[in-house]
Amino acid sequence: MYKEVSIGLGAAVLIFLVVIGYNVGPLIFLGVLGGFLYYLMRSRGVVKNFHKVPSEAQVQVSFCDVGGQATAIEELREALDFIKNRQEIRRLGIRPLKGILLTGPPGTGKTLLARAAANYTDAVFISASGSEFIEMYAGVGAQRVRKLFKTAREMAQKHKKDYALVFIDEIDVLGGKRGKTSSHLEYDQTLNQLLVEMDGIDVDDEVQILVVAATNRADMLDPALLRPGRFDRQVRVELPAKDGRLEIIRLHTRNKPLGKDVDLAELAADTFGFSGAHLESLANEAAILAMREGAKEISKAHFQEAIDKVIMGGKLDRRPSVEEMKRVAIHETGHALISELVRPGSVSTLTITPRGSALGYMRQTAEDDRYLHTQDYLESQIAVLLAGAVAEEMLLGSRSTGATSDIEQALQIAEQLIRSGMSELGFVSLESLPSDAKHKALNGILKRQEELVRRSLEAQKPGLEAIVRHLLQREKISGEEFRNLMASPAA
Ligand code: ATP
Repeated sequence: MYKEVSIGLGAAVLIFLVVIGYNVGPLIFLGVLGGFLYYLMRSRGVVKNFHKVPSEAQVQVSFCDVGGQATAIEELREALDFIKNRQEIRRLGIRPLKGILLTGPPGTGKTLLARAAANYTDAVFISASGSEFIEMYAGVGAQRVRKLFKTAREMAQKHKKDYALVFIDEIDVLGGKRGKTSSHLEYDQTLNQLLVEMDGIDVDDEVQILVVAATNRADMLDPALLRPGRFDRQVRVELPAKDGRLEIIRLHTRNKPLGKDVDLAELAADTFGFSGAHLESLANEAAILAMREGAKEISKAHFQEAIDKVIMGGKLDRRPSVEEMKRVAIHETGHALISELVRPGSVSTLTITPRGSALGYMRQTAEDDRYLHTQDYLESQIAVLLAGAVAEEMLLGSRSTGATSDIEQALQIAEQLIRSGMSELGFVSLESLPSDAKHKALNGILKRQEELVRRSLEAQKPGLEAIVRHLLQREKISGEEFRNLMASPAA
């Protein structure tokens, strides 16, 4: 805004000077020179505009907008209440809390929490990402850190606020262990400057600064950052559990018209492993699908399709050949049949529509969030993974590369079985096992499951063939249809 007005005014003054006969040549020369110098400073990063969030935007994010993070919110709020109580802190001579570190997987709401924290403390919010500080030129990163804190103070003064919240995302990029970056000392200088700025925060400062940083890799951080007096409060922001997912889905569907068949609790159960960002994307994709179809409301089918899209990516135009489609249908039906056998009701969708990097897939419903796995459970997962390749071999006489990632996953689970002392080797360290013993143990686990799967599929061969024919005709069948077909394959 100011920029446009200044350009307009400048142009008007120039025209006026030309009209009254003034020689504007030297002025234009000076203007161009000034502009060039400013451009150089910006491109070298000396002048850097951090992401300032205007105070009106802050009002919109509060802790009520963050779902499924009750524990993180409670811990954060406790720390913020402490900061807000400035008089008491001063009276008791307590060192102010300077930094809060939010750690956890991507998309779980760390930025959202930081914004809500700024709102809660009535602070101005300024954010930057760790990668914005890293430059080729020595000293630029440190200069940017200084500027970030200076801007935060100025913004708070301008908006007449007592607090400023500086949010640094991906702090591991700038706060990694010092001395580890080989090329130059730029990283170290930048981190040192951040430490200097944080050490300089005092309870008597006119503007109280709170640094909130986020990372997915707390283990990478320099210990100096984590020592008391800096980021001495760590808040874990985990992937949401089922209730949390329900809360987040509710938040992101509150402004959307939902069909009568939509059951949000069922959706929450179906989205194990989804982060808040995934769930936001799910609600958005479902609404887009409804709009494309010209539907007035978002239905269950839209949400189901959106789950597939979020997990696997968009549908592909590329069509596999008829033989390939048949192979994919056999492979996926194999997975689905064993999945139903080991856990009845577990098939959610079965499709041979190519999506992302997959030619087809079988999605399982999550019963309940699991954090511990028994031997039976892990072995049954291996069986489901191997069933695709075994079904292909049974009906087509050969296997294909379609099973590559299934086998990799099955091997990982088998390793987990050995590591947790659930294999015939007893309690052993996988790392210290001789490679042939490890290979034999892994192979033994997979072979046993392969045999069980082969016997089960042989017993169900007519049903398997009938479902494959059905899937080839329809391209996608729901878990319910699949179970009906299993019960009466001839239908
Ligand atoms: P990253 O580590 O990748 O920076 P993040 O943890 O900071 O991710 P956000 O940027 O806060 O994640 O989340 C991205 C978007 O996902 C948010 O704008 C919001 O729409 C949605 N979201 C994520 N977590 C939640 C949550 N707990 N409640 C509601 N919405 C969420």
